[in-house]
Amino acid sequence: MTRPPGSRGGARRVRCRCGRTVLRQLVGNRAALDVTADADLMPAAAAAALREPNRLDWCVRRGRDGVELLWADCRRRAGECDRPHVIDHQCTAPPPAARPRRTTRTTPVPEGQLALG
Ligand SMILES: [Zn+2]
Repeated sequence: MTRPPGSRGGARRVRCRCGRTVLRQLVGNRAALDVTADADLMPAAAAAALREPNRLDWCVRRGRDGVELLWADCRRRAGECDRPHVIDHQCTAPPPAARPRRTTRTTPVPEGQLALG
C-alpha cells in the first residue's frame, strides 16, 4: 500500500556527512548491497584502477529516472565497458560514534520530587 511509485532501481543522490554528493542504492537482487558511491562518473578503466578489495566500482546505467548502479561484472565481458563507472565512496567524516560526546548525565529525578513544582 505504501509502496512508493518508481522506487524500483535507481540511485538516490544524497549528501554525505562529509559534504560530498554520493549515490546510494541497494544493488543486487538476492543479497542486495547497500552501496554508497561517489557521484563522480568516470571511465570504467579509471574506476577499475581505484578499485580495492574493500572498495568496489559500479557500472552506471542511465535511465529515465536517473542513474542506476549495477554490479561491474561488465569487466568480465570482452573489451571495455562503455558505460560510466563510479567508485565506492570513502567517507572522510568521522563516524558518529567516534565523535566525543560530553555526557552531561541528566540525573533522574527521584520519585517524590515530582510533586507540584
Ligand atoms: Zn562521506
